[in-house]
This record gives sequence, structure tokens and C-alpha cells, in this order.
Amino acid sequence: MNIPWPPPYALKISSRAKHIGFRIHPYKGLEVTVPKRLQPQNITSTLEKHRAWIERHLSRVQSAIRPNEPEFPQMLNFQALQEQWQILYEANDLEKKLHLKISEAEKIIYISGNAQNKKLVHEALNRFLAHHAKKHLIPWLQQLSVKHNLPFSRSSIRHAKTLWGSCNSKKNISLNSRLLFLPFELIEYVILHELCHTIHLNHSQRFWQLLTQGCENCLALRKQLRKADQHLPLWILQL
Ligand SMILES: [Zn+2]
Repeated sequence: MNIPWPPPYALKISSRAKHIGFRIHPYKGLEVTVPKRLQPQNITSTLEKHRAWIERHLSRVQSAIRPNEPEFPQMLNFQALQEQWQILYEANDLEKKLHLKISEAEKIIYISGNAQNKKLVHEALNRFLAHHAKKHLIPWLQQLSVKHNLPFSRSSIRHAKTLWGSCNSKKNISLNSRLLFLPFELIEYVILHELCHTIHLNHSQRFWQLLTQGCENCLALRKQLRKADQHLPLWILQL
């Protein structure tokens, strides 16, 4: 794996720090803390001194694996739905607000107004994602519920950092909007997994038996799901 050198890093000036410190954030990459009194030119030589350590740790994080992924995404790729959405920006410095316009027919998301504000752009795309997930994941849940005869009560879409789905004792199921970026079989696995929790509210042997009836390779898919963050665009991991 090729790590660009010197790697991009976020600089933190600290009045308390005595030495240059490094931290590897899973998605933001390298963070360098520098004592206030230190000259900035010392950073490069210190990076060089710790190059092996930095490269070893950076190679394990998403931000180094995908260093060229734009912070202002040009595309949203929903592989399971076979949909590719294009994002077009039209920035206007004078505007404080950001406007989002969706063209379903063309699969284009138009972002205008304060489109140079990264945070506003990411939040707006996240809202689009929730809306799109409601439209596609909830019918998918209903369909699998009928197919496997596993009824549920209510359904909702959530943004979560770690949970792909959940089911409570009232048989209310919620699904993570980020599922939209995952391959078909992983989405199906998560939905069926939550539907099986309407019968067994735990991960007992009986739960896995039930899940295996509807999904033969569920144990392999469970393993794949642990690494499913790799399917997500970087901007969403930084929210
Ligand atoms: Zn579970």
C-alpha cells in the first residue's frame, strides 16, 4: 500500500504539550500536536524520524487507503439499488444557507447557496440519505417480513455510527441509512437479522438457527459486515 509522504495531517497547537505528539484517527488520519513554543519547521524532521511507525499505523486506516477521495463528493453510489447519483455544486459566496434540489429522473443532486461549507454540504447529503433510505429500505423490510413470516411493529431510519440496525422488545425495527452504500446481500442480511430478533431478542443458538433458515451464509455475511465501513464514503465517516 502506498502512503503519500509526507502524509496530510491535522495540526493542533497546544500550550500544555511538551513534545510533538502523534495520533492516528481512524478516518481523519494523522493528527499532530505541537507545543506552542516550537518552530513549525521541526515537524517535518520529527515526522521523518517516526516515519516507520506513522506509515505502519496509517496503512490501517481508511483515510490513508483512500487519500484522494474528495471532501465534496461528486457521486453517491448505491450499489444494491443500482443507482448512481451525481452531485452538482453551484456555490454563491453571498448566501449563508445551502439549498438542495433533487432530480429523481436524472439522478442528480443540485447543491447551491453556501456550497463551500463542507459541514453544511455533508449534513444536507445526510438528510438526502435518510429520505432515500426511508423510500427504499422500509419497503425492503416489509417485503422480507412477509416473505419470512416475521412481522414487526414499527420501523424507522436512523443515522448511527456503529449500529446497522436494531430491534427492541416491542418489535420496533430501525435501520441505518448508511446501509444504502452496502452490497445487496449485506443489506438483506442486516434486515433479516433484525427480523429474527422479533422472535429471539438475543444472539442465542436458537437465534442463529432461525437466521440460517432464511440466509444460509449468514455467518460469512456477519464477518463481512464487520468490515463494511470500507463501502462507505469518507465524508460520512467524518460526520
Ligand atoms: Zn443482533
